[in-house]
Amino acid sequence: MGFEAPSSATILALSQQALERCDNLALHSEEPGKITRTFLSKPAREVQAKLETWMKESGLSTRVDAVGNVIGRLEGNSPGAKTLLIGSHIDTVPNAGRYDGILGVMLGIAAVRALGAHKLPFALEIIAFSEEEGVRFNVPFIGSKAVVGSVDRALLEKTDALGTSVAQAIVDYGLNPNDIPSAAHKPSDVLGYLEVHIEQGPILESRQAPLGLVEAIVGQSRVNLEFRGQAAHAGTTPMNLRKDALVVAATLVLEAERMAKTIPGLVATVGTLEVEDGAGNIVPGRVRASLDVRHSDDAIRERAVADLLDFTWHTGQKRKVNLDHQIKLEQRAVPMDGLLTEFLADALEDCGFKNKSNLSTLQTSFEKVASVHRLSSGAGHDAMILAGFTKATMLFIRSPRGVSHHPDEAVIPSDVRAALTVMLEFLKKLERWQAN
Ligand SMILES: [Zn+2]
Repeated sequence: MGFEAPSSATILALSQQALERCDNLALHSEEPGKITRTFLSKPAREVQAKLETWMKESGLSTRVDAVGNVIGRLEGNSPGAKTLLIGSHIDTVPNAGRYDGILGVMLGIAAVRALGAHKLPFALEIIAFSEEEGVRFNVPFIGSKAVVGSVDRALLEKTDALGTSVAQAIVDYGLNPNDIPSAAHKPSDVLGYLEVHIEQGPILESRQAPLGLVEAIVGQSRVNLEFRGQAAHAGTTPMNLRKDALVVAATLVLEAERMAKTIPGLVATVGTLEVEDGAGNIVPGRVRASLDVRHSDDAIRERAVADLLDFTWHTGQKRKVNLDHQIKLEQRAVPMDGLLTEFLADALEDCGFKNKSNLSTLQTSFEKVASVHRLSSGAGHDAMILAGFTKATMLFIRSPRGVSHHPDEAVIPSDVRAALTVMLEFLKKLERWQAN
């Protein structure tokens, strides 16, 4: 029972090929000299053709669904077996790096190749989601939403900058929006979902860890604020008679930073600050600001937002500045599945990727699980959408300097080898689980 772990030479060759394929796909872009590949664009079709070739070479049968997801399928060893989905996205932000999303798809294909002729007790589908970044239609996750059956009419009616709707773009690409329902899996047919993705942040690097386990994708609140004071002459208005909106907004900037630094895992950002009719000789009368707050625990996030609004309102009252706010987004945290995450933790542990400072000779199973690197994802991923549908788990690969959504995005080749090794160990654990 179980398959032979491939030799280190095989892992080396396959992970190197996965990286070369990321380089290769980076050439397919809407903008010369940059990597920009949006949903259902011409370069997306070129990438689709290459993916199908590579998937077939690995023994997968391929199909393209009604939203342009490219899917490679490997049957299991018995008919009617459930399907494990392994996926990530192949669209990019403008002027992107070459690994965000793509690498997870390339490693899925590599893992199938590494299995050779071995059949698992479940089918595998490697899914290259056609849309995750939300660039073209300002709405993300179109690819994964099709797979879980949550594409609705409102989404199909969204338009891009040229006024083309999602439905029309699908038709223009040569696909049929009426086929979208058949792109969806039945939850009862699916065993789970694994996504391997670069971290896009600096946490694993700061822990000198090649790989980490994602426990949850953080929830986020986005709030727009407007501070209303009184514009006045900067020379003639004494300090004690001012209603300076910007001074109150500035206290929010500092309080958000102070609070986030004192609450573990909390991040808070005032990313925009706009003085209406601002000039060097005018006391700012009206200021608009944005606030972005994220945490993996929804209660902590909601409390932080309430406390920041409260603090800012009181500061405004003291300075005769009124505050209006509008919650633009409240997105709950998405925990990854406990069971699959445990299998992934075991796979990491067995492959030697553990937090060495946290090891004891007499490990309980809890300590064993606690000894691999765990983190929350501050960014959204397709795994968020799949988590509401099946058991989802995520493996992060260290991002040098935390750089992502930028041409300097990078990975360390030995980390990619490590990820492929852990993916195969994870499949072995699932195999044992399904056989029992
Ligand atoms: Zn991504």
